[in-house]
Amino acid sequence: MKETIFEKVDHYLSEIFSLEDDILKDTESSIVENGMPEHSVSSNQGQFLYLLAKMCNAKNIIEIGTLGGYSSIWLGRAINGQGKVISIEIDKDFAEVAKRNIEKAGLTNTVEVKTGRALDVLNQIDLKGKSVDLFFMDADKPNYVAYFDWALKNARKGSLIIADNVIREGKVLDQNSTDEKVVGVRAYNQMLAKNNKVVSSVLQQVGIKDYDGIAISLVK
Ligand code: SAM
Repeated sequence: MKETIFEKVDHYLSEIFSLEDDILKDTESSIVENGMPEHSVSSNQGQFLYLLAKMCNAKNIIEIGTLGGYSSIWLGRAINGQGKVISIEIDKDFAEVAKRNIEKAGLTNTVEVKTGRALDVLNQIDLKGKSVDLFFMDADKPNYVAYFDWALKNARKGSLIIADNVIREGKVLDQNSTDEKVVGVRAYNQMLAKNNKVVSSVLQQVGIKDYDGIAISLVK
């Protein structure tokens, strides 16, 4: 299939910034080899998450949706042994692949993969009085608002709450959609727009992951 201009530019940026080392490339290969969905963030998006984690001086990060650990590795590298990433994955086999990739990245002490349904796992997490500095949701769109509520309760002033895939190739415009993912992100965007405890911006994104978007909220 012909590469679009957005895909070409994504590759160009990834190349000139040398965004992917062998660990990240091998992580992507492991996802293909194990027949898992190729739904990791792109290298440019990984670098963006890394930057956001650095910008809010994140020490404690929670991620919903691990898959093969690609974004977890980016986030783990951002905190550089100075904190912890807890990443939650519902699929036991995917979690095992992710753990192997995280180990190869030398991040076993930084990134912990917990297996289970994210809402259940979140409610069992003991933060030991610490706040969550960055919360990244990348799975289970129907529960995005519930994840946000949990994140806000456990955040500090200046924490970031980030939600991926909130544009869905523009399907977010369809108020009659019965697609639960679209309904979920529409409810999320609507909630963010009215929530005065955070200041939010939704960025449309294009690239090798097609047309989608990411919502970034800063806790006031
Ligand atoms: N963040 C990953 C990355 O960029 O490398 C990609 C995550 S992928 C888009 C979504 C993952 O979430 C899948 O592996 C899926 O099995 C998992 N998932 C789906 N529903 C879930 C739930 N309710 N709780 C935890 N994980 C879930």
